[in-house]
Amino acid sequence: MPFNLTILGSNSATPAYGRHHTAQYLNIGGHHFLIDCGEGTQERLNIYKAKVQRINHIFISHLHGDHYLGLMGLVYTMHLLKRTKDLNIYGQKGLKEIIVTQLKYSDSRLNYKINFRELKAEKPELLFEDDTLEITSFPLSHRIPCSGFLFKEKPKPLRLSKEMLPEKISLAHIALLKKGEDVYDEDGNLIYKNSEYTLPPRRSRSYAFCSDTLYDESIVPYIKGVDLLYHEATFLADKYPWAELTFHSTTHQAGAIAKKAEVKQLIIGHYSARYKDLTPFIKETQEVFENAILSVEGETISLSE
Ligand SMILES: [Zn+2]
Repeated sequence: MPFNLTILGSNSATPAYGRHHTAQYLNIGGHHFLIDCGEGTQERLNIYKAKVQRINHIFISHLHGDHYLGLMGLVYTMHLLKRTKDLNIYGQKGLKEIIVTQLKYSDSRLNYKINFRELKAEKPELLFEDDTLEITSFPLSHRIPCSGFLFKEKPKPLRLSKEMLPEKISLAHIALLKKGEDVYDEDGNLIYKNSEYTLPPRRSRSYAFCSDTLYDESIVPYIKGVDLLYHEATFLADKYPWAELTFHSTTHQAGAIAKKAEVKQLIIGHYSARYKDLTPFIKETQEVFENAILSVEGETISLSE
Protein backbone atom coordinates (compact mmCIF):
# COMPACT_ATOMS: atom_id res chain seq x y z
CA MET A 1 0.00 0.00 0.00
CA PRO A 2 1.40 3.45 -0.86
CA PHE A 3 2.21 6.10 1.72
CA ASN A 4 3.51 8.87 -0.50
CA LEU A 5 4.01 12.54 0.30
CA THR A 6 4.46 14.89 -2.67
CA ILE A 7 5.71 18.42 -2.09
CA LEU A 8 3.73 20.95 -4.13
CA GLY A 9 4.98 24.14 -2.46
CA SER A 10 7.87 24.86 -0.13
CA ASN A 11 8.23 28.62 0.31
CA SER A 12 6.83 31.10 2.81
CA ALA A 13 5.23 34.52 2.33
CA THR A 14 5.91 35.14 -1.36
CA PRO A 15 6.83 32.79 -4.20
CA ALA A 16 10.54 33.09 -5.03
CA TYR A 17 13.27 31.32 -7.01
CA GLY A 18 10.81 28.82 -8.49
CA ARG A 19 9.45 27.95 -5.04
CA HIS A 20 5.78 28.35 -4.20
CA HIS A 21 3.44 28.64 -1.24
CA THR A 22 2.92 25.67 1.09
CA ALA A 23 0.95 22.69 -0.23
CA GLN A 24 1.45 18.93 0.07
CA TYR A 25 -0.33 15.98 -1.48
CA LEU A 26 -0.52 12.81 0.57
CA ASN A 27 -1.65 9.43 -0.75
CA ILE A 28 -2.15 6.81 1.94
CA GLY A 29 -3.46 3.53 0.56
CA GLY A 30 -5.77 5.21 -1.92
CA HIS A 31 -6.87 8.07 0.35
CA HIS A 32 -5.81 11.32 -1.29
CA PHE A 33 -5.30 14.29 1.03
CA LEU A 34 -4.27 17.88 0.42
CA ILE A 35 -2.46 19.69 3.24
CA ASP A 36 -2.51 23.48 2.91
CA CYS A 37 -3.32 25.06 -0.40
CA GLY A 38 -1.22 28.12 -1.15
CA GLU A 39 -1.62 30.20 -4.28
CA GLY A 40 -1.21 28.20 -7.51
CA THR A 41 -1.60 24.78 -5.87
CA GLN A 42 -4.00 23.52 -8.54
CA GLU A 43 -1.43 24.18 -11.26
CA ARG A 44 1.17 22.16 -9.45
CA LEU A 45 -1.30 19.34 -8.80
CA ASN A 46 -1.58 19.21 -12.61
CA ILE A 47 2.14 19.42 -13.24
CA TYR A 48 2.85 16.59 -10.82
CA LYS A 49 -0.08 14.54 -12.14
CA ALA A 50 -2.03 14.36 -8.90
CA LYS A 51 -5.68 13.91 -9.78
CA VAL A 52 -7.68 16.82 -8.36
CA GLN A 53 -10.98 14.97 -8.12
CA ARG A 54 -9.49 12.19 -6.03
CA ILE A 55 -8.96 14.63 -3.17
CA ASN A 56 -11.82 14.29 -0.68
CA HIS A 57 -10.20 15.90 2.35
CA ILE A 58 -8.32 19.22 2.52
CA PHE A 59 -6.54 20.29 5.70
CA ILE A 60 -5.71 23.99 6.10
CA SER A 61 -3.36 24.71 9.01
CA HIS A 62 -4.17 28.42 9.42
CA LEU A 63 -5.42 31.48 7.64
CA HIS A 64 -2.21 33.22 6.62
CA GLY A 65 -2.50 33.67 2.87
CA ASP A 66 0.53 31.59 1.93
CA HIS A 67 -1.31 28.53 3.29
CA TYR A 68 -4.75 28.86 1.72
CA LEU A 69 -4.96 31.46 -1.08
CA GLY A 70 -5.17 28.68 -3.69
CA LEU A 71 -8.19 27.07 -2.10
CA MET A 72 -10.93 29.11 -3.77
CA GLY A 73 -9.49 28.43 -7.22
CA LEU A 74 -9.26 24.72 -6.52
CA VAL A 75 -12.82 24.57 -5.14
CA TYR A 76 -14.10 26.28 -8.27
CA THR A 77 -12.07 24.06 -10.63
CA MET A 78 -13.54 20.97 -8.96
CA HIS A 79 -16.97 22.42 -9.75
CA LEU A 80 -16.07 23.11 -13.39
CA LEU A 81 -14.75 19.55 -13.69
CA LYS A 82 -18.24 18.39 -12.70
CA ARG A 83 -17.45 17.08 -9.28
CA THR A 84 -20.44 15.62 -7.46
CA LYS A 85 -18.75 13.99 -4.43
CA ASP A 86 -18.72 15.88 -1.13
CA LEU A 87 -15.49 17.70 -0.27
CA ASN A 88 -14.37 17.84 3.37
CA ILE A 89 -12.43 20.95 4.37
CA TYR A 90 -10.81 21.25 7.79
CA GLY A 91 -9.74 24.77 8.78
CA GLN A 92 -9.73 27.49 11.39
CA LYS A 93 -12.70 29.66 12.26
CA GLY A 94 -13.36 32.04 9.38
CA LEU A 95 -12.45 29.76 6.48
CA LYS A 96 -16.04 28.76 5.81
CA GLU A 97 -17.09 32.41 5.79
CA ILE A 98 -14.30 33.29 3.35
CA ILE A 99 -15.33 30.58 0.87
CA VAL A 100 -19.07 31.16 1.24
CA THR A 101 -18.62 34.93 0.77
CA GLN A 102 -16.67 34.46 -2.45
CA LEU A 103 -19.31 32.11 -3.81
CA LYS A 104 -22.06 34.51 -2.80
CA TYR A 105 -20.60 37.57 -4.55
CA SER A 106 -19.78 35.63 -7.71
CA ASP A 107 -23.33 34.26 -7.70
CA SER A 108 -21.92 30.73 -7.89
CA ARG A 109 -23.56 27.54 -6.78
CA LEU A 110 -21.32 24.48 -6.64
CA ASN A 111 -22.36 21.10 -8.09
CA TYR A 112 -21.11 19.44 -4.94
CA LYS A 113 -21.35 19.90 -1.20
CA ILE A 114 -18.55 21.16 1.03
CA ASN A 115 -18.52 19.86 4.59
CA PHE A 116 -16.61 22.39 6.67
CA ARG A 117 -15.06 21.26 9.92
CA GLU A 118 -13.87 24.08 12.17
CA LEU A 119 -10.66 23.21 13.97
CA LYS A 120 -10.21 23.85 17.66
CA ALA A 121 -6.66 25.13 17.48
CA GLU A 122 -6.08 25.04 21.23
CA LYS A 123 -6.45 21.28 21.75
CA PRO A 124 -5.93 17.99 19.89
CA GLU A 125 -8.89 16.55 18.01
CA LEU A 126 -9.69 13.44 16.03
CA LEU A 127 -10.65 14.63 12.53
CA PHE A 128 -10.99 11.45 10.51
CA GLU A 129 -11.04 7.74 11.20
CA ASP A 130 -11.72 4.57 9.24
CA ASP A 131 -10.58 0.94 9.50
CA THR A 132 -7.02 1.71 8.51
CA LEU A 133 -6.24 5.30 9.33
CA GLU A 134 -6.60 8.03 11.93
CA ILE A 135 -6.02 11.76 11.41
CA THR A 136 -5.72 14.14 14.34
CA SER A 137 -4.94 17.82 14.71
CA PHE A 138 -2.85 19.38 17.47
CA PRO A 139 -2.01 22.95 18.50
CA LEU A 140 0.95 24.87 17.10
CA SER A 141 2.29 28.17 18.47
CA HIS A 142 1.78 30.82 15.82
CA ARG A 143 0.60 34.45 15.69
CA ILE A 144 -2.93 33.33 14.81
CA PRO A 145 -4.68 29.98 15.56
CA CYS A 146 -2.73 27.24 13.79
CA SER A 147 -2.96 23.43 13.80
CA GLY A 148 -0.59 20.62 12.99
CA PHE A 149 -1.86 17.32 11.57
CA LEU A 150 -0.90 13.74 12.34
CA PHE A 151 -1.68 10.98 9.82
CA LYS A 152 -1.31 7.56 11.38
CA GLU A 153 -2.08 4.08 10.13
CA LYS A 154 -3.85 1.86 12.63
CA PRO A 155 -2.21 -1.40 13.76
CA LYS A 156 -2.42 -3.91 10.92
CA PRO A 157 -3.62 -7.53 11.04
CA LEU A 158 -1.23 -10.46 11.06
CA ARG A 159 -0.11 -11.60 7.63
CA LEU A 160 -0.85 -15.14 6.48
CA SER A 161 2.04 -17.43 5.69
CA LYS A 162 1.26 -18.48 2.11
CA GLU A 163 3.67 -21.40 2.30
CA MET A 164 1.98 -22.90 5.33
CA LEU A 165 -1.66 -22.17 4.56
CA PRO A 166 -3.70 -25.19 3.37
CA GLU A 167 -5.52 -24.71 0.03
CA LYS A 168 -8.98 -25.42 1.38
CA ILE A 169 -9.07 -23.23 4.45
CA SER A 170 -12.35 -21.34 4.96
CA LEU A 171 -12.61 -17.53 4.95
CA ALA A 172 -13.94 -17.63 8.52
CA HIS A 173 -10.82 -19.48 9.65
CA ILE A 174 -8.59 -17.03 7.76
CA ALA A 175 -10.30 -14.15 9.56
CA LEU A 176 -9.61 -15.81 12.94
CA LEU A 177 -5.96 -16.37 12.10
CA LYS A 178 -5.53 -12.74 11.01
CA LYS A 179 -6.94 -11.66 14.37
CA GLY A 180 -4.29 -13.73 16.12
CA GLU A 181 -6.56 -16.53 17.28
CA ASP A 182 -6.04 -20.31 17.16
CA VAL A 183 -8.72 -22.21 15.22
CA TYR A 184 -10.65 -25.15 16.76
CA ASP A 185 -13.18 -27.56 15.23
CA GLU A 186 -16.69 -28.11 16.62
CA ASP A 187 -15.39 -30.71 19.10
CA GLY A 188 -12.80 -28.29 20.48
CA ASN A 189 -9.82 -29.89 18.77
CA LEU A 190 -7.07 -27.51 17.64
CA ILE A 191 -6.93 -27.34 13.83
CA TYR A 192 -4.65 -24.39 13.19
CA LYS A 193 -2.19 -23.09 15.75
CA ASN A 194 -1.93 -19.39 14.97
CA SER A 195 1.84 -19.04 15.23
CA GLU A 196 2.34 -21.74 12.56
CA TYR A 197 0.25 -19.99 9.92
CA THR A 198 0.88 -16.30 10.42
CA LEU A 199 3.66 -13.75 10.10
CA PRO A 200 4.05 -10.45 12.00
CA PRO A 201 1.89 -7.55 10.69
CA ARG A 202 3.28 -4.94 8.35
CA ARG A 203 4.48 -1.71 9.92
CA SER A 204 1.97 1.06 10.66
CA ARG A 205 3.32 4.29 9.22
CA SER A 206 2.89 7.88 10.37
CA TYR A 207 3.42 11.43 9.13
CA ALA A 208 3.20 14.69 11.10
CA PHE A 209 2.85 18.14 9.52
CA CYS A 210 3.97 21.17 11.57
CA SER A 211 3.75 24.55 9.87
CA ASP A 212 3.83 27.38 11.01
CA THR A 213 5.18 27.43 14.53
CA LEU A 214 7.56 28.83 17.04
CA TYR A 215 10.04 26.43 18.57
CA ASP A 216 7.69 24.71 20.99
CA GLU A 217 8.55 21.52 22.85
CA SER A 218 4.94 21.04 23.90
CA ILE A 219 4.24 19.51 20.46
CA VAL A 220 6.68 16.66 21.09
CA PRO A 221 4.13 14.25 22.67
CA TYR A 222 1.87 14.57 19.61
CA ILE A 223 4.59 13.72 17.11
CA LYS A 224 6.66 11.28 19.16
CA GLY A 225 8.32 8.58 17.08
CA VAL A 226 6.65 9.37 13.74
CA ASP A 227 8.26 7.98 10.61
CA LEU A 228 8.32 11.35 8.90
CA LEU A 229 8.06 14.82 10.43
CA TYR A 230 7.59 17.96 8.37
CA HIS A 231 8.66 20.92 10.47
CA GLU A 232 8.95 24.43 9.21
CA ALA A 233 12.40 26.04 9.10
CA THR A 234 11.69 29.50 7.79
CA PHE A 235 15.08 30.93 8.74
CA LEU A 236 18.71 29.94 9.14
CA ALA A 237 19.96 29.51 12.70
CA ASP A 238 21.49 33.00 13.11
CA LYS A 239 18.06 34.59 12.63
CA TYR A 240 16.57 33.02 15.77
CA PRO A 241 15.54 36.34 17.38
CA TRP A 242 13.65 37.25 14.19
CA ALA A 243 12.14 33.75 14.02
CA GLU A 244 10.83 34.21 17.54
CA LEU A 245 9.40 37.65 16.78
CA THR A 246 7.53 36.33 13.74
CA PHE A 247 6.42 33.04 15.39
CA HIS A 248 8.56 30.88 13.13
CA SER A 249 11.41 28.40 13.58
CA THR A 250 15.00 28.03 12.43
CA THR A 251 16.93 25.08 11.01
CA HIS A 252 18.48 24.23 14.37
CA GLN A 253 15.10 24.45 16.10
CA ALA A 254 13.43 22.12 13.57
CA GLY A 255 16.30 19.68 14.10
CA ALA A 256 15.97 19.95 17.89
CA ILE A 257 12.25 19.13 17.79
CA ALA A 258 12.92 16.11 15.53
CA LYS A 259 15.59 14.92 17.94
CA LYS A 260 13.43 15.35 21.05
CA ALA A 261 10.49 13.62 19.36
CA GLU A 262 12.78 10.77 18.21
CA VAL A 263 11.29 10.79 14.72
CA LYS A 264 12.82 8.64 12.01
CA GLN A 265 13.15 11.32 9.34
CA LEU A 266 12.74 15.10 9.21
CA ILE A 267 11.74 17.16 6.19
CA ILE A 268 12.03 20.93 6.46
CA GLY A 269 10.38 23.67 4.41
CA HIS A 270 8.56 27.02 4.43
CA TYR A 271 11.79 28.78 3.46
CA SER A 272 11.90 32.55 3.70
CA ALA A 273 11.96 34.30 0.34
CA ARG A 274 15.16 36.07 1.44
CA TYR A 275 17.18 32.90 0.73
CA LYS A 276 18.01 31.74 -2.78
CA ASP A 277 20.44 28.95 -1.94
CA LEU A 278 19.03 26.24 0.34
CA THR A 279 22.32 24.41 0.88
CA PRO A 280 22.90 26.06 4.28
CA PHE A 281 19.40 24.97 5.37
CA ILE A 282 20.12 21.28 5.06
CA LYS A 283 23.66 21.64 6.39
CA GLU A 284 22.51 23.44 9.54
CA THR A 285 19.55 21.10 10.16
CA GLN A 286 21.78 18.05 9.86
CA GLU A 287 24.14 19.51 12.47
CA VAL A 288 21.35 18.82 14.96
CA PHE A 289 19.41 15.95 13.34
CA GLU A 290 21.23 13.93 10.73
CA ASN A 291 18.37 12.20 8.92
CA ALA A 292 16.93 15.41 7.52
CA ILE A 293 16.00 16.39 3.97
CA LEU A 294 14.79 19.51 2.21
CA SER A 295 11.28 19.93 0.82
CA VAL A 296 11.78 20.09 -2.94
CA GLU A 297 8.75 20.76 -5.10
CA GLY A 298 7.77 17.81 -7.26
CA GLU A 299 9.63 15.30 -5.12
CA THR A 300 7.77 12.42 -3.47
CA ILE A 301 8.82 10.78 -0.23
CA SER A 302 7.58 7.20 0.10
CA LEU A 303 7.33 5.41 3.44
CA SER A 304 7.84 1.66 3.12
CA GLU A 305 5.70 -0.85 5.02
ZN1 LIG B 1 1.73 31.72 9.14
